Amino acid sequence: MTMQKANVISLFTGLVPAILLLFCACSSDRSGTYSSLKSGIDQIWIVNTHEHFNTEAGRMASDVDFFTLVEGYLLSDLTSSGMPREDRIYIKDGNIPVEDRWKVFYPHWQKVKNTGYGRSLSQTVKGLFDINVIDDNTFPDINRKMLETNKKQGWYKHVLKDKSRIGLTIIDPLGSYTHADTVFPAEFFVKVRRFDNFVTVNENNIAAIGQQYGQQINNLSDYLNVLDIAFKKAVEVEGIVGVKSGLAYHRKIHYEDVPAHRAGSLFSKLHENSQRLDSDEQKLLEDFMMHQVIERAVKYDLPIQIHTGILTGNFNNNPIGNTNAVHLSNLFQKFREGKFILFHGNFPYMDELSYLAKHYPNVYIDMCWMHIVSPSASKRYLEEWLLTVPSNKIMAFGGDYTVTELTHGHSLMARQTVAEVLTKMVHGGHVTEEEALVLAERILKKNALDLFKLEKADDQWRRKL
Ligand SMILES: [Zn+2]
Repeated sequence: MTMQKANVISLFTGLVPAILLLFCACSSDRSGTYSSLKSGIDQIWIVNTHEHFNTEAGRMASDVDFFTLVEGYLLSDLTSSGMPREDRIYIKDGNIPVEDRWKVFYPHWQKVKNTGYGRSLSQTVKGLFDINVIDDNTFPDINRKMLETNKKQGWYKHVLKDKSRIGLTIIDPLGSYTHADTVFPAEFFVKVRRFDNFVTVNENNIAAIGQQYGQQINNLSDYLNVLDIAFKKAVEVEGIVGVKSGLAYHRKIHYEDVPAHRAGSLFSKLHENSQRLDSDEQKLLEDFMMHQVIERAVKYDLPIQIHTGILTGNFNNNPIGNTNAVHLSNLFQKFREGKFILFHGNFPYMDELSYLAKHYPNVYIDMCWMHIVSPSASKRYLEEWLLTVPSNKIMAFGGDYTVTELTHGHSLMARQTVAEVLTKMVHGGHVTEEEALVLAERILKKNALDLFKLEKADDQWRRKL
């Protein structure tokens, strides 16, 4: 053996145990930090900042099957994967035997089960029904369990409280934005309300609003008076905890500060003189009304949840650039006392959101929907935000589903991401394990409790546990 060879061998034999030791130390430390953080995070009672669930009674009265779980988001990924429209209609057609629909669905499922939407479905089925894989063998069981559980009163308690450890959910009730009579039990839900129908000024909305509040609307001043009545009723009777704006689906979310006299004459042109507004005029009138809605939200100290970024559905005709939260900057400047909660991490414009939330004291980040849109972007940007933005301004979970079961899978994914991000921050020396758990509690629960002033609601449901 040459000296050189012996040196190489001794170097090698010396290195291997050292590398192994290092690897073992790292991996055991890694798994140690992760598992201790994860078990702490699993104990947190989440405040779920955004959902569109039906009431439990409404849900129990509806027909469900396996394909209830194949909802809008997953259908979007199926569309994106190239699944033909007629196949998508076929699998959602309750008149066709579910087994036949399964045969059409299954080859397409292979293409989308890797995405956040697909993973959320898999995790839901695993977490709620103890079924590890979705395939030909397990499909009948999943379908049967969906049918059985839809007859059980208390299913929402089981899914949300017992399985997902979600204390309170802030609900944005689809289909009943303008009604107070949909009962969402206080031990689960608090409500936000949209005033988008006031902002989107047109003859139909003016007539419907006048009728709903029993008011004659002749001019802008009457219209604003009804907006006052609507806010007062929403706060004092419906008990809303915030305002929601979903206008990003329809327009650019830049709202100019339009003088009242200009808005007044546009309103008269439309309503009194029954003339059409051109698109610029329509936009100005809507801009004015958005400022009016925010002014009232500020008056009642209601946080404003604003849809920004990604739009659901594959062929929404509003260009994605119109939904970037940077367009809202003039509102942040003008309404200093406002609490602007920007939804969905402004995906795919997360960097802009870092700046906005860091810069403006009245801007908050809400990651609702985001963990299933992109688990990896959620991980990257939760880390970025926790290292850039004050921790009281980040809310890390909102399911944003219409189907309650799927929020379970989403919540599992969110807890995992929070644990992974915080583990990395502990290993990077940014925070201790104890500090990491304080951060987790903040972003999953405390920030939403504080911002929406939910301490009383939190106490109430806890007493019912
Ligand atoms: Zn939503």
